[in-house]
Amino acid sequence: MIKYINVKSRTRTEFIDITEKVQEVIKETGVVSGICYLFVPHTTAAITINEGADPSVQRDIQTLFNRMVPFEGDYLHKEGNSSAHIKAAMTGISVNLLIDEGRLVLGTWQSVFFAEFDGPRHRRVAIKVASDRKMP
Ligand code: ZN
Repeated sequence: MIKYINVKSRTRTEFIDITEKVQEVIKETGVVSGICYLFVPHTTAAITINEGADPSVQRDIQTLFNRMVPFEGDYLHKEGNSSAHIKAAMTGISVNLLIDEGRLVLGTWQSVFFAEFDGPRHRRVAIKVASDRKMP
């Protein structure tokens, strides 16, 4: 079964930490060992894992993305959000994570971020948890 995490972005570009929401879904499934697959069903948003301790890192990434791919440019796409499509393509729309002892396997400074590039919007992330062992 696929579950969904709802995400509400508040600005045009924004990195939203969804680590705890993912962890809650894993807890609900009762899976203690396995794989967590996260998929973003949008064309102007993405998902990435990066530093969660210092919010400056997320701002630095967004600042560089906006410098590399400006909002306005010589784009053909008439909707006016080509920069968001390009940033989503650069970042990627899925990640796989390991689950051990009912918890995501992440480095000390790692968090899972939903990357909004064309907000503010209501978004969602699809999550599939596959287990090789369950709680008795
Ligand atoms: Zn578009």
